[in-house]
Amino acid sequence: MILPFLLLQTAATSPLAIRPDTARPLHDAQHYDVTLLLGDSGRHVLGQIETSWRLRSSEPIQVELDSALRVVRVLVNGRENTRLSRTMYGRGRNDIVIPHDGKPGDSLATRIRYHGEVARGLVFRGDKARGLSIFADNWPDRAHGWLAVQDYPGDKASVAFHVQVPAGYQVLANGTLQKIDTLPYGHVVWNYQMDRPIPAYTLVIAVGKFAVTRLPDAACSVQCVPQTLWTLPEDSAFAVTGPFRRAGAIVEFYSRLVGPFPYSGLAHVEAVTPYGGMENATAIFYNDSLYRARKLPEETVAHEIAHQWFGDAVTEDDWHHLWLSEGFATYLAAMWAERAGGATALAKAMRSEAESYFVSPEVDRPILDAGVRNLDSLLNENNYQKGAWVLHQLRSMIGDSSFAAGLRAYYQRYRDRTALSEDFAKVMSEVSGQDLDWYFRQALTQPGYPVLDVRTAREGGKLVIEIRQTQKAEWGTYRLPGLELAIDGKLIRVDVEGRRVRKVADGFSGVPKKIEVDPRGQWLLKSVNSKR
Ligand SMILES: [Zn+2]
Repeated sequence: MILPFLLLQTAATSPLAIRPDTARPLHDAQHYDVTLLLGDSGRHVLGQIETSWRLRSSEPIQVELDSALRVVRVLVNGRENTRLSRTMYGRGRNDIVIPHDGKPGDSLATRIRYHGEVARGLVFRGDKARGLSIFADNWPDRAHGWLAVQDYPGDKASVAFHVQVPAGYQVLANGTLQKIDTLPYGHVVWNYQMDRPIPAYTLVIAVGKFAVTRLPDAACSVQCVPQTLWTLPEDSAFAVTGPFRRAGAIVEFYSRLVGPFPYSGLAHVEAVTPYGGMENATAIFYNDSLYRARKLPEETVAHEIAHQWFGDAVTEDDWHHLWLSEGFATYLAAMWAERAGGATALAKAMRSEAESYFVSPEVDRPILDAGVRNLDSLLNENNYQKGAWVLHQLRSMIGDSSFAAGLRAYYQRYRDRTALSEDFAKVMSEVSGQDLDWYFRQALTQPGYPVLDVRTAREGGKLVIEIRQTQKAEWGTYRLPGLELAIDGKLIRVDVEGRRVRKVADGFSGVPKKIEVDPRGQWLLKSVNSKR
């Protein structure tokens, strides 16, 4: 573990900027140059990582490295690190502590060599026909199972991979293939380079024997994106004609909606992963069982592609803001469904997200939940489904064009960087010209959703509409400006604030036959009891 970071939260800190992660990067790792030697059997890895640092303090550098791996050598600026201390470096259970005599702002280089049997972070699969295959499995903080890195989303670095494997195997890693070196003894080195900084949880390799299919370049009117499919040979036809049939159109759609694709290309990999898909920058891994069952949905492809913008290029600065990644990918996939299938497809997708959320225990917790300590439990209906709804309702409030302009501005400002919810809220307020702080506080720090009871009565010859918020007290009440109702088909708007609001509606005679809340479709995350 890294030294715990003391949370210096003052009363002035917005709840949208909370950073509950208990560990943080001490310095800025700017570039990792990774050399790995992998055999064709077993889990043994010999690794060397040269890291370029920008120091933030005189504190020692700390990188994480799983205790299963033995550190062989640590150099600082190319030399044995004996100047400051008789200890060259400290080795904790899962970390390496490297003293230095640098000052804040200084650049410094470390080189760490290590080896051992990998216990986590790489999945090894043996197959008689194809030999070994290896896939990185980093999320959320298993990268240090095989890489000596600062394993936090708040630190992003560019990377070069030099991966040595027996001839006959292919290697995929982040970025673009630079060259393949042939060594004596039947080994080859695959060299990849990723110029853009990405978070440690997306630093990946895949090793195996793949059929590689090139899809047509996409989004060329914005910026051409070459795409490839890496599959088992028997699955390539399914992949090309099935889930990836419209991968080019998806990249094109997001490029126009949000901004240019962040990287120079994109590979879709049939992989061994515990997730349905994992959005590694430029190399998305999809669960191989979904190929074998011929059940990989396009929705998953659209979700993972969206992560290249949100998650990879703009990264949550603290795990507790994961909705900035998962809520965005879920909503952009719903917008792709809308693009492909129209408003009905969008409404259907959002209704399905709402139904999953309503029955989840997460309804009693807010999206920004400082109480979460187990990072895996952040993969929940708050960060995915409700996160998508936060964007969907926002779009309804500020309109399509402001919403799209806000997404573009946010991407442009935070591309290759990290962001907190407060950063997104500020951009959206600026672009829309409305102070949206209240909305984001409500949507992100309040649990639950409004449960509305709508009644009408005739009083003194006029129709009175009464709207009550009947959700449990612990959820609080919600502000719903301009809540839309259709009364016998006539649209009226009511500003809802507090537990009970009454509005006198003119122009109605008799008792209304039909009252619809949110009649334009599914634009508000709510449930309704309508009574007359
Ligand atoms: Zn996702």
